[in-house]
This record gives sequence, C-alpha cells and structure tokens, in this order.
Amino acid sequence: MLFSISSHTPTSQFIQISLELDRIGGEETILQLPAWRAGRYQLADYAQNIRNFSVVDSDGNLIGFEKKSKNQWKIKPANSLKISYEYWAGKMDAGSAWVDDQQVYLNLVNCCFEVLGREEEEINLKLLLNDYPEQVSTLFPISKSVWKASNFQMLADSTLLAAKAITHWSYVIQEAQFHIWIHGEIYFDPSNFLSHFQSFTAQLIQDFGEFPEKEYHFIFQLLPYTHYHGVEHRRGTVITYGPSKNLIDPAEMEELLGVSCHELYHAWNVCRIRPQELLPYDFSKETYTNAGLILEGVTTYMGDLYLLKSGVYDFNTYAKHLEKIIARESTHQGWKNYTIAESSFDLWLDGYQTGIPDRKVNIYSRGALLSFCLDILLIKQNSSLSKIMTKMWNTFGKPMKGYRMIEFEQLIQEELSVTEEIDEFFREFVHGKKDLFPFLKTCFEVVGGRLEEQPDNDHLLTHYGVRIADHNEIIQIHPDSPAYSLLMRGDQIMDQKNLGEELNLKISRKGRSIDLLIQKGIKSYYPSFSLQFVQETPEQIRWRT
Ligand SMILES: [Zn+2]
Repeated sequence: MLFSISSHTPTSQFIQISLELDRIGGEETILQLPAWRAGRYQLADYAQNIRNFSVVDSDGNLIGFEKKSKNQWKIKPANSLKISYEYWAGKMDAGSAWVDDQQVYLNLVNCCFEVLGREEEEINLKLLLNDYPEQVSTLFPISKSVWKASNFQMLADSTLLAAKAITHWSYVIQEAQFHIWIHGEIYFDPSNFLSHFQSFTAQLIQDFGEFPEKEYHFIFQLLPYTHYHGVEHRRGTVITYGPSKNLIDPAEMEELLGVSCHELYHAWNVCRIRPQELLPYDFSKETYTNAGLILEGVTTYMGDLYLLKSGVYDFNTYAKHLEKIIARESTHQGWKNYTIAESSFDLWLDGYQTGIPDRKVNIYSRGALLSFCLDILLIKQNSSLSKIMTKMWNTFGKPMKGYRMIEFEQLIQEELSVTEEIDEFFREFVHGKKDLFPFLKTCFEVVGGRLEEQPDNDHLLTHYGVRIADHNEIIQIHPDSPAYSLLMRGDQIMDQKNLGEELNLKISRKGRSIDLLIQKGIKSYYPSFSLQFVQETPEQIRWRT
C-alpha cells in the first residue's frame, strides 16, 4: 500500500495524492476518509477538501466507483488499483494542511484513506516534492523521501513537512532522540531554548520512568501572523505560533514553552494512556468519552507544573500562568448546569465554540484546576498526581490498554489510606455541580498560597453582574444578579444613571427602547483573582520539586 504525494501548482493549494493498492482479489474496495482527528473531538469531514477522485487498474483502465456516504467510497473489483485525487491544503493550524511556495505541510489524517479490512497493513508514503528538499515526518523513515507507517492508526497519527528551508536541532535524553524542526523566522536564543527543552523533557522522563518512543519530533510553524495551536502525535507534535518576532519577549516564549511541554506530556497521556473508547480511534464517526478531565485537564495542569518542577518556570512565573487559568474559569457559570464529565461527552456538540450561556465547562481550564486540587489531596497523603499518572502509564499506557474513568478513580483510591476526602471530591466536583472556588482556596492554603478575590473596577460588572462589549452591547449577565431577570443578552445600553443602590438604564432591545431600574446585587460579581505564595510549607516543597 503506497501513498504518493506531489504538488503541481502549489499556489492553488491543491496537492495530488495517489494510493496504489495491490492484492485486491475479487472484492470491492471500501475507502474511508477520516471525519475527525485525534485531539479534536469534533467532526471536520475532511472529504469536503477532496476533488477529482478517479480510479484506474494496472493497465490504466478506468475502474468504476460510487460514494456510499459523505466520507466513504466503494470501488469495483480489479487486479490492482491506483486511486488518484486532489486535496485542498489551505488551512494553517497544528492539525490541518497547508501548501504554498515555501512548504507542503500535511497532517495525514486529513487526506489519507483508510482501506477497510486492511487497517493493519503496513503503509508506505512517498513524497514527490523536489522543490521542497527539506523533509521531515513523525513516521518511520525508509529513505530520503519515503516513510513507513506500521498500520493506518499510525499513519493517521502522523504529520509531514517538506519545505525549502527548515532549522533543525536535536538532543538525547535517556536514549530517546528528540528533534526540533522549525519552519519560519527565529527571533530567540537557540541555546537557551534548547536547554529549556532538555530540562522539561528530562524531568518528565524521570517521573514516568521512560519515554514511550525511541524518537520524537517537535515540528514548529513559526508564523508572521498571530497563531497559537498544538496537536499531539505519538512520535511528535506540531505547534504553530505567531507572530514569531514576539518570541524575543520572555513572556511570549513562556507561552511557547507551555504548549511544548503540554504536547510532550500527551506523548504519554492521550497518545498512549488513552480511554478505551478512543483505542483504537474510529475516525469514521463521533466517539464519545467522559474522560476530558484526564485527556486535557491533567495535561494542561501537568504541562505547566513540569515547567516549574524542571526549573524552566520560576515560582512567580508558574503562579502567573495558574492565575490566568483561574481567571478564565471565574468568568463562567457553566459548572452550575453541567459537570466536566458531561461537558467532555458533549465536546462533539459545542466543545470548540462559545456555545449558549453557562451551559458547559471548559475541559482544559476547569480540568486543570480540578487536577491541581486532586494533586493537593494526594500530596497531603504523601502521594501525588504525577505518581498516579506513572501508575496509569504502567497499567494502561505501556501495554496500550484502554482505561475507564472509574479505573482512574480506583487507582487514586488504592493509593490513599484515607479516601473520604477524595470520594467527596469526585462526587461534588467531577460528577457534581458544586462551586469549586471555596475548595480551591483551601487547596492553595495547603501549599502556602493565598487566592484572593478583588472586585473588578467595572461598576456595571461588579455590582450588577452585567458585562458589556463594543457599542455598549450586553454580552453576559450573571445568573445570580437581579439584572438577570430584567436584561437580555444583546441589549444595548443607551444611557445609564447611577442612583446609589439602583441603576437607571435606558436600553435598546432590538430597536425597542426600554427604561429600567435595576437593584444592586448583594454580592460582587465576576471578581478577579490574585494568587500569591506567602509561605513555604512541607506540602509545597513536595508539590513543586
Ligand atoms: Zn492537549
């Protein structure tokens, strides 16, 4: 089975792909194009980027085919088949495909067919791209322009980049070879960058005990325009970042290091430690999972924590990044209506869009704060979330055996001598809808931290729970505020008069003028939070080292 890739007219952004199949027998061949990709639990329907599909046999005779569904093609029997099509590579992000005069960059899950019934066969991939001499892939190399995937799952978990120029650095930690490939302009000090990568990689490998692969590729797309995205693969990651010139600023570099450590953590968690419903990936349709807390919550928390543990972040820098996650969480009330498990299941519905008001929680930010609390509960009993994840690696990741959410909880319970607190935690915050913030404060106290609320300077937001955007349009109303039963999202404030304990508002509701008196709330809404570590405790030392 061989995929060949060329690009006749790069500026059209179409690439030409052929798939050669032999040993067909008298059977019809069914080709399935993935409808989604690993790491993004949302239908992408890549088939919409395909055109000019045709099939011939070894003598060049046209072979008939028909589409069975939007993502599936059925081809008539022949001795061997050559399937040709064009794929539009016009979306630059860490999980898509892009072609221009400088590069051909493909995530293979976008554009390579799964041949049903032959999923376990070895697949070769050949690049016919002489104009792009620098070529790299997370697949296994066979020769300069040929790579091998052991089966379709591996192919679909891989990416390739062919370009006019790529910068390459590498390092070795405990016999695993790490490559850094950079496409784009570099505005930072390479030696510092490399030493940070070595530090967090070494710390992760030390705690997990080993690296899952012999080789790993960080592929960076440093772009001249604003971008920030990362996607995990078993043998590497693609990270987009821009504007690249901003990386001269240490605060911007922290963000790049943050996403890099996050993606490397995925080499264990998600790429190998994976819920059973996602093992193997069924790319033909939605695959529901309630494990978002572990998939992205634990990874988001651990990605940053390992930058602290490895000394890449100092304590203040770490606290600043945690504060940002807290800020993101504090502006939403979705936890009142939906648990993280429910929000995880519904990623397919609205996981990657703003969605309706206060319906769901964010598995990344909510999940990270829950993971922090879990870590503290474990640290209090002389264990840690790192130790649990190492157990997850040994029990599930290493043998590539899918886990169930309940098995993660059981693993934690087995680790502890007293389980009441952890049972309550799962009941109230993971499977329940209790306010996490009071508990979060007590967890920070354990490690000498103080999480303090400060009322926002915005009078309307703080006292009335009303957030406005451009043109005084109301975009959010706190459900506990008196304003919630008077104002609507989309109302436009034309005039306001502060009457002390009340507010007189003149609003336009879809062109209709309304005059309202709104009571001040009994509490302040949407406060901002500051996090400070005021003293060192034994738990803090165990946590951050
Ligand atoms: Zn992630």
